[in-house]
Parts: sequence; structure tokens; C-alpha cells
Amino acid sequence: MRSSFKDSYFCDYLKPSQIVFELKAKTKIQAVEELLDVLNKQKLIKNKKLILTRIIDRERLESTAIGHHVALPHARVNTGGDIAVAVGKSKKGIDFDAIDDKKVHLIILIVWNPSIPGLFNHLFAGLAQFLRRESFRKRLFETKNKTELYEVLSEVELRLPQEDRIISRASLLKKLQTLEQKKKKAKKEQQAQLKEQANLIRQELDAILIDRFDRLMERYGFAVAEVEDGVCQSCNINVATGIRSAIEGSNDIFICENCGKFLVATKKKKK
Ligand SMILES: [Zn+2]
Repeated sequence: MRSSFKDSYFCDYLKPSQIVFELKAKTKIQAVEELLDVLNKQKLIKNKKLILTRIIDRERLESTAIGHHVALPHARVNTGGDIAVAVGKSKKGIDFDAIDDKKVHLIILIVWNPSIPGLFNHLFAGLAQFLRRESFRKRLFETKNKTELYEVLSEVELRLPQEDRIISRASLLKKLQTLEQKKKKAKKEQQAQLKEQANLIRQELDAILIDRFDRLMERYGFAVAEVEDGVCQSCNINVATGIRSAIEGSNDIFICENCGKFLVATKKKKK
């Protein structure tokens, strides 16, 4: 379905003028607005209000903070161009309802054109692959000015990872499953809204993954299984030791070798 994107660099989409080295914002919404103001000033977007609404709607559905002090708020809106990216850093940190409850110190905001459906996925996969490395994040957080931050970000290569895992998307896939299950039971008047929310998520996930998800949903009524104490909760079989240790406390998706469901870590109970 989606044509593959050529390998590129994150900085093909980012100029130093699109970076705010120290955000003034104290809240999530303020931060998003501050970054949209930058894009507006650079004439990279023209419908700031609409984009802000879309980003906030998307955040309400599920936080885009991927853990480890990083958030990737985004919206699929026609900006005139292909894509608009802005980066903001916050020394104090901003509360983003992150999956790991940590404050966010780095925000990468992405607005992409609906006419290029795979673009966000490509960008997200590439970014997540770099941002999951602790050493890389450390260097980002330790930069002392905009030039340094830009230089470190310039190292990010965008290519789809050749791994048997899907990085940082487990909670999103679970959310999609919840919405689809709700939709099945919902009254007619609620259907449209649930479908709209589900579509927001679908737009962000890789076509191959969505395809597999839909087939599993159709066949079993669910597609995502939690791993508890190393056991797949769908088929009750122990998952491979390597997967078990990799999955713990992560937001990555794996696939059960036995029953083929998407495997995700059990959500940790909040203290
Ligand atoms: Zn299984």
C-alpha cells in the first residue's frame, strides 16, 4: 500500500530556526502552542488553530510521550507542504501524562500532510530507534545551546527498523483494540465518534501492522495479548526468554511465536 520512503535524515525536515532551545511553556498545551508559533512564524503552517485542536484531540486519546522524557505530539493536517517539524527543549520538564510518569524535557512536534500517509510512520520509526538509546538521549539533554542540539539531532537517520519488534507503539495498539471492541457493542450514535478515534490511531500505524491487527480482530475478537510472568495471556504458553526480558517495562510490541497475537507488557500498576 504505502510506497517505501527513501532513507533520509531527520534534519532534511528540520532547520535550526525550528528549534526552541528553552521553552517558556509550563504545560503541555502551552508547549504545543509555543512550537506551533515557531512554525507559523517560519510560514511552515497556516492553520495554527486547527492544528492545535487536532494535536490536543490526539493527546486526549493517548499521550504522545513515549517515555524517557521525550514526547512526539503530532497531527495529520494539510499544511500546504509535506511536513512541518519543530523541536523544543525544557530544562524544568513538562507534565505530559507520560507512560512512565516522567516529565518531558524534549518535544518533537510533527504535522504532516494527509496526502502522504506513510510519512509519519517513517519519521516515528526512525526517531524512536535513536531516542530509545540512553546514550543518545543523554547527549541531547546535555546540549548547551541550539547549535549543539541541532548537531546531535542531525545524526538521526530515518529508516524503518529491521526488527521483530515495533518500537514504542504497544499502548497505542492496545488503545485501538479497546476502541474497536467498544465500537462493536456501541449504539449507533456513538459509532461515528469511536470510528473517528480509531481512525486517528490507524493513520499512525504501519499498514502491515494494521492488516495483521484487523485479521486477528476478525478471527478472535482481539489481537493484543498481555504477557504476565512470562506467559502469553492468550495461549497460556511461555514466551521466549529473550522476548520476556525485552518486553518487561517496555512499550514495544512483539509477536507471540505460538498464537501470533501481538504481545505487550502488562501495564504496571500505579503506586
Ligand atoms: Zn500466545
